[in-house]
Amino acid sequence: MTHIPNSIQARDIASLVHPQTNLALHRDIGPVVMERGEGIAVYDDAGNRFIDAAAGLWCASLGYASERLAKVAYEQMRRMGYYHLYRHNTHRNGVELAERLLKIAPVPMSKVLFQCSGSEANDTAIKLVWYYHAAIGKPQKRKIIGRKMGYHGSTSASISASGKPDMHADFGLPFPEFRHTEFPHWYRNRQPGETEEQFATRMADALEALILAEGPDSCAAFIAEPVMGAGGGIVPPRTYWEKMQAVIRKYDMLFIADEVICGFGRTGAMWGCETFGLKPDMISCAKALSAGMQPISALMVNDRVYQAMLDESRKLGNFAHGFTYAGHPVTTAVALETLNIYEDMDMLGHVRRVGPSLQAAIGALGAHPLVGDVRGVGMLAALEMVSDKTTGAAFDPALKIGARVEQAARRHGLIARFIGDRIAFSPPLIVTEADIDDIAARTKLALDEVWSEIGKPG
Ligand code: PLP
Repeated sequence: MTHIPNSIQARDIASLVHPQTNLALHRDIGPVVMERGEGIAVYDDAGNRFIDAAAGLWCASLGYASERLAKVAYEQMRRMGYYHLYRHNTHRNGVELAERLLKIAPVPMSKVLFQCSGSEANDTAIKLVWYYHAAIGKPQKRKIIGRKMGYHGSTSASISASGKPDMHADFGLPFPEFRHTEFPHWYRNRQPGETEEQFATRMADALEALILAEGPDSCAAFIAEPVMGAGGGIVPPRTYWEKMQAVIRKYDMLFIADEVICGFGRTGAMWGCETFGLKPDMISCAKALSAGMQPISALMVNDRVYQAMLDESRKLGNFAHGFTYAGHPVTTAVALETLNIYEDMDMLGHVRRVGPSLQAAIGALGAHPLVGDVRGVGMLAALEMVSDKTTGAAFDPALKIGARVEQAARRHGLIARFIGDRIAFSPPLIVTEADIDDIAARTKLALDEVWSEIGKPG
């Protein structure tokens, strides 16, 4: 496709590299130019409206515009637009946000470290695992175990912990100290007749077998999302977390809960850890922390980890880690106000009231002939398209069914997150029941269209 010279599309192709994008294809098809947002919808430069059932990248919890957050950012920039936390400096917003996070943490946490992204929060957690084990005299405990299909970010260590071979390819990653255990996709990976509980036992046994094969003395930590997001919206089967945590504890490994997607209400509780009974040593969070309107993330560490950090920095003379924009006064101000907004509008109550409608509406799509599995929790739902509803057989990836449904959905003014042949729905948390019906109706139109295209009209 040729774009009009000097159009935003042409200038984009000439100047920008897009994240997670096929760069060659991008040169041919160019970008979609988004111009503005209103409520849960965004508008492109041709004035087309799209309901965003993905909340951007799982983050635009309050939708796309907020006078209240804009005002807070503006006022903070006028008062003090930057200062850092290095070398004993502090500011009120950083302290207040740290206190607030510790107060709402799902398990007792001791301290907070700030960064600008989920990737950096997890990268920091991984460094702290190594630092901790060095401090307690077990420097050989270095291996980090993640899960296949897990996603923890794009920085070198965070993507190493992620179980995404497509994101490792030709970067020479993962780093040698990273391993990946099975992921808990009961629908796709269960054995004939296997119950959720039996499957969960098999998952925990697989983790234990991996630890034993690697040598428990070398295994330092396990990192996981309470619900897998970028892996396809995979809700863990019954008893999974209880059994996995027993293994982690048995081998004295640290547990990092990646709450980047689940944190701040997505699962119907403040934290995915609460919904699923996780008791981690460190918690990373980002995204809805600032409603996606400022780049900020936080890592909480428990006292066991903090005391080791204290010992190490006493010994070395410095805690030699940090970022220029860690705890930035504007990002922390916006995050604090975001948490105030959640409280004022009783966001958790809203998710608990409206979440069941999302589950019911997406659940009803389970009857569609293209859909094999539907699952979800709180304000997160996912469905999986299959070529045979009875056996659950997957489509030939060459058919690109997911991509075709995605295009059809866009034609019907709907954005969702497509991961292969899975669709994840994580609308802004402020979504209403009417919005949810609209999202489900547009999804059905897209599914119907592709169903008839592939010669199986329903
Ligand atoms: N962790 C999880 C669970 C995520 O879904 C993501 C991004 O989607 C990240 C970490 C990385 O966050 P960021 O893109 O802000 O670096």
